[in-house]
Amino acid sequence: EQERMVWSASTEARTADGSPVTIAANVGGKRDAEQAKQYGAQGVGLLRSEFIFMRYSDFPTVSQQVEEYRGVCSAVEPEHVIVRLLDCGADKPLPYATAPAEDNPFLGLRGIRYQRARSGSLDDQLIAIAKVASEGFPIKVMIPMVISVEEIRMVRSRLKDLAPQDETMPRMGIMVETPASVMTIERLAPEIDFVSIGTNDLVQYTLAVDRGNPAVAHLYQELHPAVLHAIDRVVKLCHELAIPVGVCGDMASHPETAIALLALGVDELSASINAIPELKAACAAVSRKQLDELHGQLLSCESADQARAFITPLLASSY
Ligand code: PEP
Ligand code: MG
Repeated sequence: EQERMVWSASTEARTADGSPVTIAANVGGKRDAEQAKQYGAQGVGLLRSEFIFMRYSDFPTVSQQVEEYRGVCSAVEPEHVIVRLLDCGADKPLPYATAPAEDNPFLGLRGIRYQRARSGSLDDQLIAIAKVASEGFPIKVMIPMVISVEEIRMVRSRLKDLAPQDETMPRMGIMVETPASVMTIERLAPEIDFVSIGTNDLVQYTLAVDRGNPAVAHLYQELHPAVLHAIDRVVKLCHELAIPVGVCGDMASHPETAIALLALGVDELSASINAIPELKAACAAVSRKQLDELHGQLLSCESADQARAFITPLLASSY
């Protein structure tokens, strides 16, 4: 294990023909971030701030949050840290964040909708992130569950009111995890600095398949043509505006789906920490030329199985 870690930390992710691949980590706090650094992660592509909130018995104060975010930033310094605004609700209930019972929690008060309904918590979180940014850390804000331009403008305007008006103003991005954000990405992208595709929810909402229901787990297909075309649309239209696109859903943490993402042109994979070594091995097994060819093949598929059949042979040498 020690050997694996050393190899992984000292080896940058590259394709077979030497082109660099950015692999960041998904973390839930400082300890994870320290481990991510050891595994050679190039920053934190997703800090799930709700995991921090879950360790408190009530909403953490601004100074408690400053300490938490600063801890993560100093663990991976000088790499960037993307803090996702509190994404509680649905599969991630926060015990003290009481809300009325819902028939369809996945379609209910979660993500930015929740914080909107409780604006004090949004302000506190933005103040804490802006404070850490003002200390010189490359910390960024990411909004979960976005469906409209108006949500982005609302957060941007709160941030402007609360953060110092200087070059330390944190960069702002969105999770693309709803079909609405995919279909209107050309309207959303000009409002932001980066995008991260949350495939866990995007697959669920695109296919209308509950991500946690075993009865429909066989229909939860990350390589479904609808998902691949959704990702392709987002990458193409964001790149036209020079907006970088990462992926922080589980698709970025498994070799086969990660290779599909690279073929579709995503700029950063943000993966679970333990997945990083095998992702590096997978990258090293494919060339840019193979990825380009795979891109067209993936868009031509009529099923997830067909897509997988194009990918698997490319990875044969990495196992
Ligand atoms: C996602 O939806 O892909 C994601 C990364 O967020 P979460 O799994 O926390 O909903
Ligand atoms: Mg999500």
